[in-house]
Amino acid sequence: MVHLDFHFSGRHFLQIPGPTPVPERILRAMSCPTIDHRGPEFGALGRKILADIKQIFKTVHPVIIYPASGTGAWEAALTNTLDPGDHVLMFETGHFAALWRKMAQALGLEPEFLGLPGIEGWRRGVQPDMIEARLAQDSAHGIKAVCVVHNETSTGVTSDIAAVRRAIDAAGHPALLLVDTISGLASADYRHDEWGVDVTVAGSQKGLMLPPGISFNALSPKALAASATAKLPRSFWGWAEMLEANENGYFPYTPSTNLLYGLSESLDMIFAEGLDNVFARHQRLAEATRGAVRAWGLQIQCADPAAYSPVLTGVTMPDGVDADLVRKLIYERFNLSLGQALGKICGRMFRIGHLGDCNDLTLMATLAGCEMGLKLSGVKLAASGVAAALDFLAQGATTPTLRVGI
Ligand code: PLP
Repeated sequence: MVHLDFHFSGRHFLQIPGPTPVPERILRAMSCPTIDHRGPEFGALGRKILADIKQIFKTVHPVIIYPASGTGAWEAALTNTLDPGDHVLMFETGHFAALWRKMAQALGLEPEFLGLPGIEGWRRGVQPDMIEARLAQDSAHGIKAVCVVHNETSTGVTSDIAAVRRAIDAAGHPALLLVDTISGLASADYRHDEWGVDVTVAGSQKGLMLPPGISFNALSPKALAASATAKLPRSFWGWAEMLEANENGYFPYTPSTNLLYGLSESLDMIFAEGLDNVFARHQRLAEATRGAVRAWGLQIQCADPAAYSPVLTGVTMPDGVDADLVRKLIYERFNLSLGQALGKICGRMFRIGHLGDCNDLTLMATLAGCEMGLKLSGVKLAASGVAAALDFLAQGATTPTLRVGI
């Protein structure tokens, strides 16, 4: 632990859109002694989590777990399915879509970046009609994969993956569909099988409420078939070795044992709340946040209400206000971390994370910190966002206590 030369009283509010606060229950589970990863106890743990995680992706097919951050799982999705020089269609929704494209280039693929012009593309989701039109032109089927980000963490925009699937089918195109839901999994509704996704990429440090350090590839039979002939080099990321070891609950190399204890606990917590209740809670907290932003008279980064993210909300600053200075003030005065703006919109907005282990009171404290910080920064607010969010949350209160009838 690094000790700073000052101490904040009270708890830190980690309201960035991941990593998210790790609940005590998960921290305690992870503090158990590390066991032999080739012994019988580990095999039982491995079999449990490899089976349970499928319910989160809504798939009956294999889910691979890597001891790596989400970036590793991005690389695994590309290297297991594609050949050097393959043409891939990617869609610019924000900073993370741009980083995935940069990786594709570095790996020797030929990414084509579709998108709306300028900043507009960072305010809206993937446009399925643009994908359909581009694939329809590709009669020789040179495009091998379509890669999209489900929940663009840099902007707070969620794309309609089922519509992307329909666009690919409408064009009669055989391209694989690769989807990054690193910040969407276990917070926003996601259906790997139903939406016909070939590889889903996800991470631990967002909706699953775990520390960073594990990431996932959910596969389809078509992706598995592609991996049998794909020629991009891979070793650590290879699916075949993983799947063989996973058969009995084991891994081909040393897994992140203690993070897997945490994953097991996280899955138990999510199933106890109910996945649909988890999604509804995220939607409700997101709407309360947007109500606050509207009351302040500020602009939400996402310009399309159908694409509002249940995970985070981007708050755009009025001209002349440096969002990073506002964030700094809020951190220093209120012990509250907000997400900084990335890439093209750097300094123009901040991001409020409302995902993972977050409830009404966590959100109210967060919004109070934002409101006080905005006022102290001299931003003119139309009305109290805190009051608006309070009114909204008080109306629709649903607590787990009510659900179990106590
Ligand atoms: N994709 C998205 C949508 C993300 O939000 C992130 C990280 O926040 C990444 C990719 C990269 O993942 P990681 O930082 O875990 O490597």
